[in-house]
Amino acid sequence: MSTYYKHKRTASVDIPYSFTCEQCMKDSGTLSATIEVDATINSNHRELEANKDEKLKNNVHAKLVREVKSAHQNATENQIFIKAFKDKCPHCQQPQSWAVSGLKDDMFTWPIALVIIGVVVGLGCYFFTEVENNMMIAIIAAGVCFALAIATLIFNMLRISNKKKKTSTSLQKNVPVIDWGAVSNLLNEE
Ligand SMILES: [Zn+2]
Repeated sequence: MSTYYKHKRTASVDIPYSFTCEQCMKDSGTLSATIEVDATINSNHRELEANKDEKLKNNVHAKLVREVKSAHQNATENQIFIKAFKDKCPHCQQPQSWAVSGLKDDMFTWPIALVIIGVVVGLGCYFFTEVENNMMIAIIAAGVCFALAIATLIFNMLRISNKKKKTSTSLQKNVPVIDWGAVSNLLNEE
């Protein structure tokens, strides 16, 4: 096995937005939702070659475009506001009802990832560990991941119900006003 270096690049963009607080009715003022992504590429060199650097740059940019487009589509078509749009009122610190959608949207992300990790780790322990009780180790390793998946899911459900409860008293239901024009160059990319 030859050694290689992992090169990483991040890209981010800020989307301005504001909301009228459902609790104290004050305007939040301009806030900023940051969407950040990263991409990696392997190379045999510590110093990344120019052509690979170009490729990495393109990859991370494409990823950012995908994320921004998805956030835009979620917000405009499905009324789902991803977690980058923070809902804590700068005046009264209260959460907003529209942010429940973002939590719901994100509810299964980690639990599913943990189940997949559990399966991979379990199979890895079973097939690639040369010890006698590898079956036992595999079951325990997978079991820990599955338990974490369930715990994360319960935690997420509690967070959703907590935010729902806190925001249910507001008589007026608002949604944030998002300045998509600030990222129109990304949204218009093919
Ligand atoms: Zn407020």
